[in-house]
Amino acid sequence: MLDKRKFYIDGEWINPYQANDFDVINPSNEESFALISLGSIKDVDRAVLSAKKAFDRWSVSKKKDRIDLIEELLKIYHSRWDEITNVMTLEMGAPLDWSSSAQTSSGYDHIKDFIKRLKNFNFEKKFENNSDNYISYEPIGVCGLITPWNWPLNQIVLKVVPALATGCTMILKPSEIAPLSGMLFAEIIDEAGFPPGVFNLINGDGEGVGSDLSSHPDIDMISFTGSTRAGRLISKNAADTIKRVCLELGGKGGNIVFSDSHPEAVKEGVRNIMSNSGQSCDAPTRMLVEKSIYKRAVKEAADEANNIKVDMASKKGDHIGPVISKKQYDKIIDLIQSGIEEGATLVAGGPDRPVGLEKGYFIKPTIFTDVSNEMRIAKEEIFGPVLSIIPFDTEEEAVSIVNQTSYGLGNYVQTQDKERAKRVAKKFRSGGVYINGSTADPGTPFGGYRQSGNGREGGNWGLEEYLEIKTICGWK
Ligand code: NAD
Repeated sequence: MLDKRKFYIDGEWINPYQANDFDVINPSNEESFALISLGSIKDVDRAVLSAKKAFDRWSVSKKKDRIDLIEELLKIYHSRWDEITNVMTLEMGAPLDWSSSAQTSSGYDHIKDFIKRLKNFNFEKKFENNSDNYISYEPIGVCGLITPWNWPLNQIVLKVVPALATGCTMILKPSEIAPLSGMLFAEIIDEAGFPPGVFNLINGDGEGVGSDLSSHPDIDMISFTGSTRAGRLISKNAADTIKRVCLELGGKGGNIVFSDSHPEAVKEGVRNIMSNSGQSCDAPTRMLVEKSIYKRAVKEAADEANNIKVDMASKKGDHIGPVISKKQYDKIIDLIQSGIEEGATLVAGGPDRPVGLEKGYFIKPTIFTDVSNEMRIAKEEIFGPVLSIIPFDTEEEAVSIVNQTSYGLGNYVQTQDKERAKRVAKKFRSGGVYINGSTADPGTPFGGYRQSGNGREGGNWGLEEYLEIKTICGWK
């Protein structure tokens, strides 16, 4: 059993004020393998005080010094690649190869890209040629960073690195269900040599440390990634202190497959939703298929789902692992049952356990067809390996179905008609659109419309979230 009960505050690993132990469970075998502490308001106050003190010097540090430290961080991150990969495999069930090639690498790529953006970012500029007005971008202050478990380090890096880059100080609260990659990241920050108090880490749950951070009078900004439910509570908690609240929330992506799409489009759509065991906010969970190819698409989708292996995360190879927790497992199985009860046709997977996996939160890749957009499986974020296939007749109908959701994170379109692809991309009400399997480059903004949030992470947009903008008149 790993003992991880300390917090990182003011450059040191220290004990919490009060013992409040919490088990970290390996989702592949349902066994506890580490103990963390859940913090209290006293721990939060201690970390905020440290971040507040550190802000005085860090906020006016030289850009060059911050770049040097973040470059050092990148180097150490790279040298600890396998440790990072292994810890995410243990804490959230990411299969080893996927954990390395997708989870660990995404964090690395973001750090690298932020270094490039920071090098080119102008924190001060003249307003216009004949004006004596001057614009100054300044760090917003002490930030509370609250992250989820599904892409644990990716989400942490997308917040911590731009906060460091812009001269902010911070308190990170990683997900209590998968906290160890965040703690390893704190070790890397410590080793890189950032001044004490610039970065602090406290573990805790949403009701405790999460709420304490959101409502804290000395915290100037909250950056949150997680469920829309928690995003709502955080916004309410933060309202009295008028702090900036940046939200990256849930999604219910649509993927329109037209009859002229490339031959692999259906299979790719299936693989895309099943990867990370369906636990990605921008996953294409609703596949809309043009009726003329519906029968073929259903068969291809079912075959592909049946081909996807489910196995222990600790094994190497190309398979999917368990979902994160008993709570998520029960929620997903309940939604699969609801699909059956509401009359959708189950063509692959289902609520039974995969053969040979009697322990662990494993779910078979599941496909429903003949789904209507009114069913729960089409409306609610399932966050598991479950795809709903919906038939359509016309482009207008398909776009309208995709947009009939309270979310707006990532949507997809498959067609070889380039004009149609662009037309549909413009009509989607979402922060991201992926045409014919194309992916986002590092440094592009990531975020949602409507109840998928209000922030944009990554690249210059990610840096700007942590900055105040000052107009100085009379600057000569
Ligand atoms: P969650 O909302 O339950 O928890 C996320 C984090 O918020 C955790 O650290 C948790 O302790 C904390 N939290 C929970 N309630 C809180 C409260 N009342 N106040 C303050 N903090 C609180 O989400 P999760 O189950 O960990 O993650 C899955 C969700 O995250 C999904 O809905 C997914 O779509 C979303 N997500 C969004 C993005 C994005 O960029 N839009 C990326 C990844 C995940």
